[in-house]
Amino acid sequence: MNPDPLFLQPETLRRAVRHEGGITRRLLLETAARWSALPLLAAAPAVAPARVRWADDPFTLGVASGDPDHRSVVLWTRLAPAPLVGDGGMPQKDVAVRWEMAEDAGFRRVVAQGVANASPILGHSVHVDVDGLAPDRWYFYRFHAGDTTSPVGRTRTLPAPDAAPGRMTFAFASCQHYEHGHFTAYEAMARDAPDLVFHLGDYIYEGAGRDGNVRRHAGPRLIAVEHYRVRYAQYRTDPLLRAMHAAAPWFVTWDDHEVENNYAGAVSQNAGQDPAEFLLQRAAAYQAYYEAMPLRRGCLPKGADLRLHRTARYGRLAAFHILDTRQYRTDQPNGDKGAPLNAAAMDPRNSLLGRDQRRWLEGELSRSTGAWNVLAQQVMMALVDRGTREQPSFSMDQWPGAAHERIELVRFLERRKVANPVVLTGDIHTNWVNDLRVDDRRPETRVVATEFVGTSISSGGNGSDQPSYVAALKAANPAVRFHNAQRGYVRCTITPERWRSDYVVVDQVAKPGGTASNRASFVVESGRPGALEA
Ligand code: FE
Ligand code: CA
Repeated sequence: MNPDPLFLQPETLRRAVRHEGGITRRLLLETAARWSALPLLAAAPAVAPARVRWADDPFTLGVASGDPDHRSVVLWTRLAPAPLVGDGGMPQKDVAVRWEMAEDAGFRRVVAQGVANASPILGHSVHVDVDGLAPDRWYFYRFHAGDTTSPVGRTRTLPAPDAAPGRMTFAFASCQHYEHGHFTAYEAMARDAPDLVFHLGDYIYEGAGRDGNVRRHAGPRLIAVEHYRVRYAQYRTDPLLRAMHAAAPWFVTWDDHEVENNYAGAVSQNAGQDPAEFLLQRAAAYQAYYEAMPLRRGCLPKGADLRLHRTARYGRLAAFHILDTRQYRTDQPNGDKGAPLNAAAMDPRNSLLGRDQRRWLEGELSRSTGAWNVLAQQVMMALVDRGTREQPSFSMDQWPGAAHERIELVRFLERRKVANPVVLTGDIHTNWVNDLRVDDRRPETRVVATEFVGTSISSGGNGSDQPSYVAALKAANPAVRFHNAQRGYVRCTITPERWRSDYVVVDQVAKPGGTASNRASFVVESGRPGALEA
């Protein structure tokens, strides 16, 4: 046991905790010994903050769970009595955090418990891989630190790999600019009680606080790990976001704003910035992302690298291939904005996946036994022209910037007869339904996959429905089946026979209490790629 008890260091504690009477060394060691007798205790924990009262609640950031499989799930919390301070208001000491998992919300039937270490090296975040659980089951969990207990979270395991579930539901979301609006969409999502949540990136935005918005970012433009930490913490002070994390397990992936707008691999959007310098910023950003998210310990970053692409299998009903189109991509051709699909855009060396991730993805798709094969990823895959006849404009930050790789990927889906491919997308702050062909500019060819693009939670403010723009867009792009520019999320229901996507929109996000409604629904029948309006 660590003989250097945290709570005998009053000068480091004054801000966060206050003693309840004199804590003797003996008492602390007794407590540690008692905890060490608990089952599932892995490494020796720091000394427990027994009999210590926190001056402020250390669980301001709530609880979360993520990345379940059929027998395990990650539980997450982060101790931060002062969330908008770089160190969270915590002393530079390890703190032991006890966790419990139960079959019931009253914790009468506890199935697993243990002690985890919250270290200042990782911002006092806690990531617990709880193993040995039953498949396809809901559980409840909570944490204890000193005299304080966290809110209760609800999570679940996935069905066994060979199970044939008749139905599942999930929601996906992206782009939650804190300054642009309230996270009302999460309130509606929580009412749906989905089995899972997928977050497709732009969980935070990196800009400095600016006046004149609905809310204001704390702190400067993000560069250092403390900046990114505070930004995640500020977003988690939103009770609707916290509640959704506590309601179901999430699978998260990132886009650009978790580091910096439009970055590409080691290349900053700021022309001329030294990649070595930018990678230091990326390392800080990736560390704070890991600290803030319910990710497996295998996602612990190594310097500026964090492996985020992975597959989740919901029995034989669906395989979710979660992609990272930022970390390994090549720099955008033709600059970051719109351009024609010219030779630079079609250059076969352009990539959003990088060679290793693409090889991994092709392997996963080839081996998959999922009735539905889902690519959960960031940027729009349809090759959509948003320009004019004279000046075509395809987004070079999206898949058109790696058009050759994009065409080859859909060709792979077609050739290998990958079962029911569906692409989920964020980034673009608008709702889209797209039919994907090998080359979307050739409407006479067959549809291979269906893309559901979800709008932002709040980025861009209230938004609108834009019917006249939609008509022109559809006329110029046969791939596009639906477009809408309001805020919200997408709710999906999958059975072996049919996929259904409901586009839930919120009437306004400038004020709390916006009203959510279902703007449109699309289905895909198994074996028949392409969307049908429901
Ligand atoms: Fe965004
Ligand atoms: Ca983005």
